[in-house]
Amino acid sequence: MSIHSSKLIDDVVQQFHRLPGIGKKSAMRFALHLLKMSEDEVSAFSQSFTQMRSKIMFCKECHNISNTEVCDVCSSPQRDRSKICVVEDIRDVIAIENTGQYHGLYHVLGGIISPIDGKGPGDLNIPTLLEKAQKEEHKEIILALKTTIEGDTTNFYLFKKLKDIEVSVSTIARGIAFGDELEYTDEITLGRSILNRTPYQGALL
Ligand SMILES: [Zn+2]
Repeated sequence: MSIHSSKLIDDVVQQFHRLPGIGKKSAMRFALHLLKMSEDEVSAFSQSFTQMRSKIMFCKECHNISNTEVCDVCSSPQRDRSKICVVEDIRDVIAIENTGQYHGLYHVLGGIISPIDGKGPGDLNIPTLLEKAQKEEHKEIILALKTTIEGDTTNFYLFKKLKDIEVSVSTIARGIAFGDELEYTDEITLGRSILNRTPYQGALL
């Protein structure tokens, strides 16, 4: 603590610094900004955190955020219950929902297998997925994990666990991004795009 600072400000800086991607300088900027706000504003600001933390629940079916025991997606009669899309975290559910292209159910793993980060299969929401996959109404499990070694490892682990259950397992297509030139696409992506080619008729154009 410098002589120009105060322990009260330092405490706030430390708290902001705990957030992902927030360095000491940004944390200090936030703390000083809070000082410029009225006491009422700061109180509403801090209350929104505590309220969110204490009131938000996780759906017992898919582990997505929810205000009720079972989330809006899992309880909706409009959703296609034959498909379950497996994702790493809640941000992926939001991203896929924003496409407007998917109308099935979700299953949030709560991470992926990553030995470097000390995450193993036991840390993920896998038992509830396997249990759900056994139900006859679900016909297809779509693995929508990131395209990294950890993502691939998790895909492979889940595939091995699911292969004896009567459900089809697919992964999302990996290919060339819209607007990309073939010659600038990396070899792995281009190779996979050729292997995962789709019939022209029926492809989304
Ligand atoms: Zn749910």
